[in-house]
Amino acid sequence: MIPPAFDYVRPADLGEALRILKEREGDAKVLSGGYSLLPLMKLRLAQPALLVDIQDVGGIDGIDRTGNVFRIGGRATHRRILEDASLGSVLPIMRDVAAGIGDPQIRNWGTIGGSVAHADPAADWPAVLQALHASIVVQSVAGERVVPARGFFIDAFQTGIEPDEILTEIRIPVPAGRSGGSYQKLERRAGDFSTVGAAVQLTLGSDGRVSAIGIGLTAVGDAAFAATEAEGVLHGAEPGDEAIRGAAAAASRQSRPGTDSHGPAEYKLAMVTEMTVRALRAAVARAQG
Ligand SMILES: Cc1cc2nc3c(=O)[nH]c(=O)nc-3n(C[C@H](O)[C@H](O)[C@H](O)COP(=O)(O)OP(=O)(O)OC[C@H]3O[C@@H](n4cnc5c(N)ncnc54)[C@H](O)[C@@H]3O)c2cc1C
Repeated sequence: MIPPAFDYVRPADLGEALRILKEREGDAKVLSGGYSLLPLMKLRLAQPALLVDIQDVGGIDGIDRTGNVFRIGGRATHRRILEDASLGSVLPIMRDVAAGIGDPQIRNWGTIGGSVAHADPAADWPAVLQALHASIVVQSVAGERVVPARGFFIDAFQTGIEPDEILTEIRIPVPAGRSGGSYQKLERRAGDFSTVGAAVQLTLGSDGRVSAIGIGLTAVGDAAFAATEAEGVLHGAEPGDEAIRGAAAAASRQSRPGTDSHGPAEYKLAMVTEMTVRALRAAVARAQG
């Protein structure tokens, strides 16, 4: 469990980090919290010649609200997200998700940008960001790109991020009106990666019907994805038990889990239904206040 030799730099600002990534394109990797990258290097599944440690890069680890958008820095730790009162009061789903990641040590060092760039199909943030209709901001020496979270996660451990880019920010629109969200995660032990996870954020109109909805699923496809068929069932509907069960069944139909040490595919499909029902009920309860 010893990684191959590598060089290490710790640039002082974003410009310098981006220049180095461009110069060493293809053989350099960004190092953020290190909780996903270093284990891969120890297993020799990743062998970068250079690590570009971005922990001294300022301005990309905070959480701000600008108008109706939350801006979360790519280097914001899970703990910072967990403890941000402004974010947690408007989008309690963010607090819930951060609280369920790993243990205190992982939450202190692991970052949302690292999780999103790594794109483990069982990681929690990718599905949640799709449920929230978030956008992902990446920068290179050529400038900035803003990519919708839906479309960013291409395959297991594959995203739309290029080797010379740094994920600097995640933008989450503040839902209008009566909105509620919930993330329900089935895990073998507290703090484990998800066996199945369902993220929901929905908004109720003045008539009590669902006027906006996002549903994201974890660990039941090659990458986290938006359960668009389930969203279609609920959009415009009264969020009663029948509609909730219909949407959860649609989420399960859209899922493609594999059989592994977490259980057979059939079990996971049943758990998609159950986790989606729970997430929808909790989101409706929060929206109704
Ligand atoms: C024991 C354990 C339990 C865990 N439990 C959970 C869990 O329950 N749920 C969950 O979702 N996750 C879990 N994780 C993963 C944890 O959340 C990691 O912190 C996260 O996946 C990676 O973040 P990091 O900052 O450590 O990234 P790193 O390991 O530093 O980097 C990961 C990858 O992303 C790239 N990268 C990092 N930051 C950027 C950036 N800003 N721009 C571009 N590329 C970047 C790196 O080059 C690397 O390829 C767990 C990890 C461990 C070790």
